[in-house]
Amino acid sequence: MSEVLNVEELFGSKVFNLGKMRERLPKGVFKEVKRVMDQGGELSKESADVVAKAMKDWAVENGATHYTHWFQPLNGITAEKHDAFVTHPDEEGRTLMEFSGKELIKGETDASSFPSGGLRATFEARGYTVWDITSPAFLKEDATGVILCIPTALCSYTGEALDKKTPLLRSMEAISTQALRIVRLFGNTEATKVTPSVGAEQEYFLVDHEKYLKRPDLIFSGRTLFGAPAPKGQELEDHYFGAIRERIGSYMKDLNIELWKLGVTAKTQHNEVAPAQHELAPIYETANIAVDHNQLVMETMKKVACRHGLNCLLHEKPFAGVNGSGKHDNWSLTTDNGVNLLDPGKTPNENVQFLLVLACILKAVDTHADLLRQSAADVGNDLRLGADEAPPAIISVFLGEQLDDVVRQLIETGSADHSIQGEKLITGVSTLTDIEKDATDRNRTSPFAFTGNKFEFRMVGSSDSIASPNTTLNAIVAEAFCEAADRLEKAENFDLAVHDLIKEYLTEHQRIIFNGDGYAKEWVKEAERRGLPNITCTIDAAATLTTEKAVKLFEKFGIYSKTELESRKEITYETYSKITNIEALTMIDMAKKLYIPAVVEYTKTLADTVKVVKEVGEVAAVQSGILKEVTTELQNAFTALKALEAATEKAAGLKNAKEQAYEFKDNVKVQMDSLRKAVDTLETLVDKKVWPVPSYADLIFEV
Ligand code: ADP
Ligand code: MG
Repeated sequence: MSEVLNVEELFGSKVFNLGKMRERLPKGVFKEVKRVMDQGGELSKESADVVAKAMKDWAVENGATHYTHWFQPLNGITAEKHDAFVTHPDEEGRTLMEFSGKELIKGETDASSFPSGGLRATFEARGYTVWDITSPAFLKEDATGVILCIPTALCSYTGEALDKKTPLLRSMEAISTQALRIVRLFGNTEATKVTPSVGAEQEYFLVDHEKYLKRPDLIFSGRTLFGAPAPKGQELEDHYFGAIRERIGSYMKDLNIELWKLGVTAKTQHNEVAPAQHELAPIYETANIAVDHNQLVMETMKKVACRHGLNCLLHEKPFAGVNGSGKHDNWSLTTDNGVNLLDPGKTPNENVQFLLVLACILKAVDTHADLLRQSAADVGNDLRLGADEAPPAIISVFLGEQLDDVVRQLIETGSADHSIQGEKLITGVSTLTDIEKDATDRNRTSPFAFTGNKFEFRMVGSSDSIASPNTTLNAIVAEAFCEAADRLEKAENFDLAVHDLIKEYLTEHQRIIFNGDGYAKEWVKEAERRGLPNITCTIDAAATLTTEKAVKLFEKFGIYSKTELESRKEITYETYSKITNIEALTMIDMAKKLYIPAVVEYTKTLADTVKVVKEVGEVAAVQSGILKEVTTELQNAFTALKALEAATEKAAGLKNAKEQAYEFKDNVKVQMDSLRKAVDTLETLVDKKVWPVPSYADLIFEV
C-alpha cells in the first residue's frame, strides 16, 4: 500500500493565504488587508508592521531564514534576492529575526542588470519592488533553505514598469472599470469589481538528465539544434492520453505535491501528442495569481525533474518535426457577485449582455489581432506557430456551431430567435447512458477559441510568461467595452441601441471568425484575402507595439506609456539577437568539437577498411561508396560551418538593435539551417557508435 496523501492538509501549507492571515492577524488589521486586496488603497504603516510580523513569524515557524521580494523582470522569468531576517546583534551578541512593514511593502534593488530596453541608462540603476498584496506570499524550499517569497512589482526610479506584473495589474483595473460600466447597463448594481480569470494549461517535455548533459544544444539553448528524425514519430497517436510510464508517473506525483503545497491547484495531467511530451493544467484563478502560479509551475517542473534524473524542457520546439509545446491561456471575466460575462447560458440568443460582450471581444480581437499575436511572440514560439501541429500565426476566432449560428442570425436580421441545442448522444449500447452533447464540437486548430464559458488563447508559447497575453487581452477588451459603454450610456432607447451596436460590431468584424481548419494551407490564403495579419516572426511582431493604434490604446488605459512600449520593442530585438547568437555559437561549437571530429575519425576507419579489404584482394565498393558519401557531406558541413561563422560574426558586430535582429533572422538563421541539414544527413550515414551525442530516438523514446 502506498502512503495516503492528505491533500486537504497539504494544500497551501506553504502559503500565507487569507486563512492564515485571518488566524494570525487582529480582526481590524485583517479587515483592512482584505479591503485593500478587494478595493485597492494603502495599508496604514502600523497595519503593515503587524502583517509583516505575522508573516515573518509564520515563515520562521516553518523554517524560513530569509525573505525575498519575488518579481518578474522583462526576461520572462522570476528574480529574487535573499535577505536574512537577522538583525544587528545586541550588546550581548544576540540577534533577533525581524521583518518590518517597510521591508514588506518596498524593496530597493539595483535594476541595471535586468533588461530595460533603453528605459534607463546603466548608471541610473535604482529600481523598486512593491508588494502585490493581491498575490499571497509563499515559502520556497531548496538547497538555500526556506525562503519567504513576497510577490512584487518592479518599477524604475522614475516609475516606469520594468516588469510584467505592473502592466498586468494596470490592465486588470482597466478591464474591471470598463466591464462594470457594461454590467451596470444591464441593471447589475451589486457588482463592484470584474476580474479576469485565467487557467493556463502547461505543456512540457521530459528527457533523461544524463542524455541531456551530453547535448550542449539542450544545455545552452533549451532545444536541439541538430538531430535527424527518429524512425518513429507521433504518427501512431499512441502517446496522447496514453498510460503514463512509472518514471513519469512518479515525477507527476511529486510535482503535484510540491504545487499543492504552494497553493497551486494542479488538476489535470496527461501525456501529450509527442513522445516524451506531457501537460499539466491547474484550476483557473484571478489573472495575476494565475501568472505568478504559472511561473511557479514552470520552476517547480524543472526542480522536481532534477530529483528524478530527468530534465524538463519548456522550450516551444525542443525537437524539429515533433509537436511543439504551448500554453493554452483560458480567459474569462467574472463579477464579484458571481456572474461570468462569458457564460452564454442555454439560449445565448436571449442573453443580450453576453452577446454584447461577445461582440466587443470580436471587435477587440479583430482590431488588435496584431497586438494579440505580439503578446504571444517569443523566439522559440516562432518555430512552433504555423508549424503543422500548432495554431497558425494568424489570429482568428472560433465560435462553434451554436454561437456562429446566433451571430449569423444577428448579422442577417438584427435579432436572433433561436439557439441550436446539444442533442442526446446515442451510443447504440443499451447499458451506456445516453448523455447530453455540448451544443458545439471542439476545434483544436483555432488560436482563439470559445470553449463554453471562456476563450482559450492557444498561441502562447510554453516557456513564456502569461503576463503579456493577459495584459493585452484585458487592454483590448477594455477598449471595446469602453467604446460600447460610451455609446450605450447616452442612448435614449437602450434596447434598440444595444441591438444596433451588436449588429454593427458583428457585421464589421465578422472576418475574424473562422470555424474551419486553421492548419490548412488554404486558410493562409483565405486569411490574406480577408486582410487578417499573418505575422510569422517575433521581430515583425515587435513593431506592432508602437503603432499609433497601440500607443493610443495602452496610454488611454494607463497600461503602458509610449516609452514603456518602446522599451519592450527594443528588448524584443535584443533578445532575438542574443538567443540566435547563442544558438549559432552553440552550433558552431558542436560542429567543430563534436560532429566534425567524429566524422573525420569515421572516415579514417572507413579508409583503413577500404585499404585492408583491397589488400586481401576483395572489392571494397560498399565501403568506398559510404566513404564517398560521408566525405561529400562532411565537406558540405564544413562549408556551412564557415558560412555560419562569418554570418554570426557579421551580425554580432552590428550596433542597431533592429538591424541586428533582422541580420540574425535573414542571414544567420539561414546558415544555421544549412549546417543543420548537412550534419543531420551525416547522422543518417554514420555508424551510431561514433555519433557523439544522443539521437532523437534516444532522447524522446527512452525516457
Ligand atoms: P479544455 O479541456 O476544453 O481545454 P478544461 O475544462 O480542461 O478545458 O479547462 C482547461 C483550463 O481552463 C483549466 O485550467 C480550467 O481551470 C480553465 N477554465 C475552466 N473554466 C474557466 C473559466 N471560466 N475561465 C477561465 N479559465 C477556465
Ligand atoms: Mg485546452
